[in-house]
Amino acid sequence: MPHTHPDYEAERLAARDAARLAATLCMAVREDMLGSLTAIEKAGREPVTVADYGAQAVVLHHIASRFPDDAVLAEERGSDFQQLATPEQRERVARHVGAALGEVVTPEQVAAWLDFGRDRERSRVWVVDPIDGTKGFLRGGQFAVAVALVVDGELTVGALGCPLMPVNPGGDALGIVATAVRGQGAQLEPQAGGSPHPMHVSEFESLGSARLLESVEKGHTDHDFSAQLVELTGIGGEPVRIDSQAKYFAVADGRAEVYLRRSRGGYEEKVWDHAAGALIVQEAGGTVTDVAGQPLDFTLGGRLQNNRGILATSGPDVHEAVLRAIQALEAAG
Ligand code: AMP
Ligand code: MG
Repeated sequence: MPHTHPDYEAERLAARDAARLAATLCMAVREDMLGSLTAIEKAGREPVTVADYGAQAVVLHHIASRFPDDAVLAEERGSDFQQLATPEQRERVARHVGAALGEVVTPEQVAAWLDFGRDRERSRVWVVDPIDGTKGFLRGGQFAVAVALVVDGELTVGALGCPLMPVNPGGDALGIVATAVRGQGAQLEPQAGGSPHPMHVSEFESLGSARLLESVEKGHTDHDFSAQLVELTGIGGEPVRIDSQAKYFAVADGRAEVYLRRSRGGYEEKVWDHAAGALIVQEAGGTVTDVAGQPLDFTLGGRLQNNRGILATSGPDVHEAVLRAIQALEAAG
């Protein structure tokens, strides 16, 4: 069974290539529909775009052809695609998927790929967010294609494609793909191609020089709480707001030191919003827990249950300090 080779290199490459292909599709849709990106309403009222379905179809087509026995936990459903998207939107998705795969693709094939591996009981589960940060995508902000493999409940492979992320901090070239395999570190390569290099979190200096990231969307995290945290800890500067798991990437690549997400109103985080990013941060030398300091539990299905939020940092020192401050604020709450 080649796909169970212990170094997981085949899985890493599959996740990397799927994320890259889907990210390229997203950018093509963005150009194609520039100025007219319309969100389709689905249950839960999250915006779903042509790119969302297209990206998931591309990722799952890629995984299905390489690992046909694996299970999948992915955000979009074939039935939503069939029922909620208009015929024009379905054709447009199929056209973009076809362009990405270099073959003629029908909406029916797209619908079938969207549901590949769904509701299977397997030890290996691919966790896919086709466009994480849909709101960022619609606003012209950051977004990410996130692909992870969980084996027996343990994060094992992760890939993030962030097509609008500078390859080098502050540089003009955009588009990165980051990957990680448990125990083997994290790597960064330009989406456009080029040699990969290892990723590392930044060295801890002081909280005063730490940079904190949070969601743009005020419904997704408690902005007031992080403002209080900055004040209490003396973390350098205002929180920086960016969409999607690009926040995890930025911590993993030493571009920020703290990503705080404090859930609002009992919201239960979805696994596909964290699996790939959390592994990449950990393998780059960082630390990821919930806001109480407990490890994230990826064994419970689609949600991270009993979880009030997430803290990802550049390592144990800053993590401990921020956790203590969170506890102090909650106690004072
Ligand atoms: P971000 O770009 O970091 O704000 O996160 C985007 C993700 O937030 C989406 O993929 C959604 O799955 C997730 N999300 C949706 N509603 C909420 C909510 N009320 N609280 C936290 N996350 C949410
Ligand atoms: Mg998401």
